[in-house]
Amino acid sequence: MSYIPTIDEGSCIGQGDCMDLLPEVFQVDDCARVIGTGPDDGLLKAARECPTEAIVLVDSRTGEQVYP
Ligand code: SF4
Repeated sequence: MSYIPTIDEGSCIGQGDCMDLLPEVFQVDDCARVIGTGPDDGLLKAARECPTEAIVLVDSRTGEQVYP
């Protein structure tokens, strides 16, 4: 669990795919917000499946953005 997710609120359309995949990490009302942590592979899958690339992942070990 080294990836830190954040939401680009200007890009999120709030349709909830991320919450369906990782309800322990994402909660969606009008917009997604991060409520917890999850496995890196699950976070990467959620980020890749987000239709608007609103999920930003940063590697906490290196500080580098890994997605998008
Ligand atoms: S999948 Fe992307 S667009 Fe959909 S609610 Fe999550 S962050 Fe927002």
